[in-house]
Amino acid sequence: MNALDGNAIAGSLLDVFGAEMTTATGVCGSCGTSAPVAEFEVYLRAPGAVARCRSCRSVLMVLVTIRGLTCVDLRGLAALGLAPTSGG
Ligand SMILES: [Zn+2]
Repeated sequence: MNALDGNAIAGSLLDVFGAEMTTATGVCGSCGTSAPVAEFEVYLRAPGAVARCRSCRSVLMVLVTIRGLTCVDLRGLAALGLAPTSGG
């Protein structure tokens, strides 16, 4: 299965968080690596998607869409933070 990147789940995350999340920084709960969501390794699996850490391959996020409602499980993340937008 081909790995995608965090941009593949940008739309789903936008639905859930109401914000552009690909620029948010996530911290892996297993190895402590921090990376932009856009750089997560993403695998699309019906009915949702799984995002993994590029360093240790731990599952960081699980997204499941059921009847148009997207649920996100962030248990693999130690932290998830939005970077302040510049120039605003
Ligand atoms: Zn990791």
